[in-house]
Amino acid sequence: MRIHCGVCEIELNYDDYVFLDEINTLTHQNCYSLETNFPIKDLGTYEQLTKVYCFIK
Ligand SMILES: [Zn+2]
Repeated sequence: MRIHCGVCEIELNYDDYVFLDEINTLTHQNCYSLETNFPIKDLGTYEQLTKVYCFIK
C-alpha cells in the first residue's frame, strides 16, 4: 500500500516533492502548513525519501 499525503490524503507519486516532518508524516510540499504540521525533518521527492528512510515504502 502506498503512503498518502498527511493533509490532502491523496496517494503520493514517486516524483512528487514532499516534506517529512518530525513525526514522520509525509505531505506534499504545497500542502504543508506550519500551523497544522510538525517541523520539517527532511525534504525531497517521495522516491528519494524512500531510499533514505527504510520505514517509507
Ligand atoms: Zn497533499
